[in-house]
Amino acid sequence: MKVHFKGTRGSIPTAYSSTEINNKIVGALLAARGKDLRSEGQIKEFVDKKLPFHIGYGWGGNTPCVHVETGSEDFLIFDGGSGIRSLGQEIVKGGAKNSTFHIFISHLHYDHIQGIPFFTPAYDPSNKIVFHGGHKDLEKNLKGQMKTPFFPIDMDTFNADVSFEIHKPGETIDLCNSLITIIEQDHPGTSYGYRVDSKGKSMVYSTDAEHNNAAHSKEYPFINFIKGSDLLIFDAPYTHSQSIGNREHWGHSSNIMGVELAARGEVGTLAIFHHDPGSSDQDLEEFQAHTKKFLQTSRTAIKQTQPGIPGAPSSRKFPTEIISAYDGLTIDL
Ligand SMILES: [Zn+2]
Ligand SMILES: [Zn+2]
Repeated sequence: MKVHFKGTRGSIPTAYSSTEINNKIVGALLAARGKDLRSEGQIKEFVDKKLPFHIGYGWGGNTPCVHVETGSEDFLIFDGGSGIRSLGQEIVKGGAKNSTFHIFISHLHYDHIQGIPFFTPAYDPSNKIVFHGGHKDLEKNLKGQMKTPFFPIDMDTFNADVSFEIHKPGETIDLCNSLITIIEQDHPGTSYGYRVDSKGKSMVYSTDAEHNNAAHSKEYPFINFIKGSDLLIFDAPYTHSQSIGNREHWGHSSNIMGVELAARGEVGTLAIFHHDPGSSDQDLEEFQAHTKKFLQTSRTAIKQTQPGIPGAPSSRKFPTEIISAYDGLTIDL
């Protein structure tokens, strides 16, 4: 299973300003002073291995879209944020025709559907597009965002064969060589998370979900849902203090909650997702470091607790890795 992140930013697409690009170049040149960087190979290696990620690269600013390759000829896609535009362009460039696209929508907030009108494979009559979701009014609302006066052309302009399938929480769907399970999540207007099990590998796409006090209960259903998955894509734009402070009930979770749930769910890789549009690349790099540090510290603290004490937390073998997803990242599971 290959997971391609095409959009990882939450709420609204964010573009780099000229000042931010300028800061990256100045930062790179400052770091390069006195280094032996004559050949292109030396320069590339320096940028890849020596520069901090926020200077040499960056997170990008497209809103949620994740493409999962399962070995099937059909395409499996989660959410249609602005990231689905570049995915569509790549697919058309690759010459795909007569293809079926299964697009699972977490919910109908703009940042998760705004790229759909720009998904070029939808304009090819040889293609088939199936939108999946848990919201009963999925069809009405996806069509609604393309109605006058919000968009110049309506969804009938799509030449592909478009259909809609509504699923219930707990349902398992068999497509793209995978079993896909759906869970209802706490978010304004409700959102749905999806688990993909394919050929012995598994990933969970869970964005726009607030895990509050109920998450600490023993029988929290989300733990079973993510149990043993190789990758958990987790909505965590907030710090712990934001999530219980002024951003409580905004429908999102913290990095700390992500680590706690991934530990209990025995998840392999935890991917922090749906980044705050107000965060710079440097902020995101620090946030990632802070999240990793929390995992490390909690591992040490838990090792020091005495086994057998009622309520003592379980061991921290998981998550085995923490990453902060960025636009263009591919994970091979
Ligand atoms: Zn969102
Ligand atoms: Zn939302």
